[in-house]
Amino acid sequence: MFVDKVKVYVKAGDGGNGMVAYRREKYVPNGGPAGGDGGKGADVVFVVDEGLRTLMDFRYQRHFKAERGENGRPKNQHGKSREDMTVRVPPGTTVIDEATGKIIADLTEAGQKAVIAHGGRGGRGNSRFATPANPAPEIAENGQPGQEREIVLELKVLADAGLVGFPSVGKSTLLSVVSAAKPKIAEYHFTTLTPNLGVVETDDNRSFVLADLPGLIEGAHSGTGLGHQFLRHIERTRVIVHVIDMSGLEGRDPYEDYLTINEELKEYNLRLTERPQIIVANKMDLPESEDNLERFREQVGDEAEIFPISAVTKKGLDPLLRAVMDKVETTSEFPLYEEEEMEQRVVYKFTKREAPFTITRDDDGAYVIEGHEIETMFKMTNFDREDAVKRFSRKMRHMGIDDALREKGATDGDTVRILSYEFEFVE
Ligand code: GDP
Ligand code: MG
Repeated sequence: MFVDKVKVYVKAGDGGNGMVAYRREKYVPNGGPAGGDGGKGADVVFVVDEGLRTLMDFRYQRHFKAERGENGRPKNQHGKSREDMTVRVPPGTTVIDEATGKIIADLTEAGQKAVIAHGGRGGRGNSRFATPANPAPEIAENGQPGQEREIVLELKVLADAGLVGFPSVGKSTLLSVVSAAKPKIAEYHFTTLTPNLGVVETDDNRSFVLADLPGLIEGAHSGTGLGHQFLRHIERTRVIVHVIDMSGLEGRDPYEDYLTINEELKEYNLRLTERPQIIVANKMDLPESEDNLERFREQVGDEAEIFPISAVTKKGLDPLLRAVMDKVETTSEFPLYEEEEMEQRVVYKFTKREAPFTITRDDDGAYVIEGHEIETMFKMTNFDREDAVKRFSRKMRHMGIDDALREKGATDGDTVRILSYEFEFVE
């Protein structure tokens, strides 16, 4: 099975910062707190788009950063939250967390959505911290950081279009020049019946999966049966791309080749002949080809479209690929997914409860505190404000970090590190 795979970085928007502000009223020299909350940062949301069939688009954009929430404002005005960032993926995409290997989402149905990274909530403004004891607090939170993660997208692909034709007509060569696939050229695949697949991009930025189906004809000649994998690819194949050697160099007649292959397709009884067919007249760089093509055109009539190309000199490829893509998009008799293929995946998530924090020592003797909660708290603290610093210290105490530091032997004046910041341990 061919798996299209790509690594992507996503970062949801940070929450906006809360504000420290006070009311200004006539005759009231120092009014109450009036700093608004920050707005929520945007989520990164993946949504299934039925029109996509590969992960090609992610080759160009691998970073997705959603917008940050707006900061809070005076007069208790809250910052604006941001619209989600939507990223379109093809049906069948599995999203995996790189760090843990866990599946985040299985996106199978049209329109299905999943939040892949959650936006941070807005920091609270100083109005929210007012208490009878401290009616005009000088404290506001920074916004919560948006979730960020490296993810892997996986898509199992089956062929949208398949190359058929006699051996040596140039199927493998064609696949190798229109995709990153590396099929063996000038070799018969009598034994390996796995089709070679490649993701092809057209010059107008659409993409489809093309398979070299050597086994179909070559396997038949050697009496080898077609494997299950192989059949699945053929069943899915919406368009048959019939490659013909136009040079006639090996003493063969292009039109006879054409008829023979079509007869063979019929024999397979896979309703292959019902698929739209595109004829590729290959090896147009060779001397005899022009004349042969003219004759061939008359013989075929308007049964099928003919695209003269040279796989070796890469001539004529763009119009051919566009035509295949158009046919793939407009052929709907063959469902995109065979039913049995859509194995339902049930994901049982088991998340080990993390220790709230850990304390380790760096080589220089500093105590290093790590943990999601304390790090988030740290990022949300505005250390320019006295009250905010006090609140952070209280939090450390409540979480038991102070005690734990003492237990580890920390004494007055020792260095404590959180993320890239340092401060002194004070008894
Ligand atoms: P396949 O058996 O259909 O997969 O054919 P291959 O791709 O293995 O090609 C068979 C031979 O034809 C190789 O030696 C290729 O270099 C040659 N060939 C393929 N395409 C062209 C072409 O457009 N022009 C010329 N002159 N030779 C070609
Ligand atoms: Mg080949």
